[in-house]
Amino acid sequence: MLQRLTAADAELYTREERIAALHKLREPFAPQEVRYRPQPWCKKCSQAQGWPKVCEHHHEIKCQRCGGQKITDAHICLKYIGHAEATNRLLNVDPFWNWEPLSLDQLGLPQYDGNRGMWIRLTVCGVTRIGYGDATGKDGANAVKEIIGDAIRNAGMRFGMALNLWTSSDLEILEPGVPLAPELAAELGRTNDAPAIKSAPQPVAQETGGQADFDRIVGQLPRSWESAVALKQIKADAEKHHVFDRKAQGPDGTWMPLRTLVTVRIAELQQAAQERNAAA
Ligand SMILES: [Zn+2]
Ligand SMILES: [Zn+2]
Repeated sequence: MLQRLTAADAELYTREERIAALHKLREPFAPQEVRYRPQPWCKKCSQAQGWPKVCEHHHEIKCQRCGGQKITDAHICLKYIGHAEATNRLLNVDPFWNWEPLSLDQLGLPQYDGNRGMWIRLTVCGVTRIGYGDATGKDGANAVKEIIGDAIRNAGMRFGMALNLWTSSDLEILEPGVPLAPELAAELGRTNDAPAIKSAPQPVAQETGGQADFDRIVGQLPRSWESAVALKQIKADAEKHHVFDRKAQGPDGTWMPLRTLVTVRIAELQQAAQERNAAA
């Protein structure tokens, strides 16, 4: 498992084969391959004693979506791809795919960092990218498996695998000095460190609004992405300058009218707030 791929291995594939395979890696997963894991949002719950951790304002439930586990009702069910599904996809794309720890300790074992996390190199079709995994809330042998699975999924994300299931904060650059893979940066519509949402080059005279206003407004989107109030201001601003129907690129890389992008996001945030209020 731990041997390095050599240049000769990478040459097993032609450039066209590699592009086709890496493209296949990015295909959406089938609904039955998507799983859910709970992410409690109530701070009091996460600080509570006992198991499952539930504060006095919330209730213990068995969440069917999250695999029937006992958990506070104050959680959101986050989509993810399991280790088996991720492995299956990698095998389908490249039977010779491989991972290795970024560094080894004196005993030659994978080196964990201070957060019990691990950096790995994931190699698919001779292309290598790094990823990071940890094992939040798990111990012992289970933790090691979780760390590895998590790191493979994270590195896979850098190839665009299950990209739509990651939140924008997951997609931030985790490690200093290591740029996003060019394809991923393109997918997210940005150059490194630039805002995640960019404006489309516009045909001249298609709209009455100015490109400068549009660029300015789109530039505010990443900062406003988690706030319905801020997004409503953007909406008003864009309407005022007649640029609300211009196309912009969402965090998942899809081009759509700014109107759709902003309106859908406001609805999502409002729905999440309602769910939190209903649970509180
Ligand atoms: Zn709570
Ligand atoms: Zn759940």
